[in-house]
Amino acid sequence: MSETMYKRILIPTDGSDVAENAVDHAMVLAKQFDAEVHALFVADTDAVHYALGTEQVDRIRQGRFPEMTELREDAEAATGYVRERAEAAGLEFVERHAGGQPHNVIADYARENDIDLVVMGSHGRAGVRRALLGSVTERTLRSTHVPVLVVDYRAEKE
Ligand code: ATP
Ligand code: MN
Repeated sequence: MSETMYKRILIPTDGSDVAENAVDHAMVLAKQFDAEVHALFVADTDAVHYALGTEQVDRIRQGRFPEMTELREDAEAATGYVRERAEAAGLEFVERHAGGQPHNVIADYARENDIDLVVMGSHGRAGVRRALLGSVTERTLRSTHVPVLVVDYRAEKE
């Protein structure tokens, strides 16, 4: 354990309240370790697949969805929340909008960018909280060797 253990912290976010609550936890650690903060929003291509043509799905996979207003606004709001906090704290910030299966994109991103810690919510926008863990979090835990801090919705601020 050293002061430089967490140099790069990844926050995958779908913009949900639970994810935003996890951002608060991530920021405490990022400030402590003077870490670079990475925010990642993934457009879930399985979820949007059937309503779109192949060309559109291809563009989403590449993180290019400028004319898909709703998706772009969701992505911008999700990572923008992290950006504001990282900038206010004077921390280095990296932002990525991508497309694919969220857990695969998150695990690939963590590996390819030398991420030391992933901080994410126990649940997300689906809002079904009967399950102990949302599927993106559960699958991410099964897909990566990088340490993951899961912040439970029950710890949400009032
Ligand atoms: P489910 O999606 O399985 O029906 P859910 O929406 O409640 O349930 P998850 O999607 O697993 O739960 O969300 C848990 C956490 O995973 C979120 O708090 C967020 O940190 C991350 N996450 C979920 N979806 C995305 C996404 N599309 N892009 C980036 N991070 C995501
Ligand atoms: Mn979800």
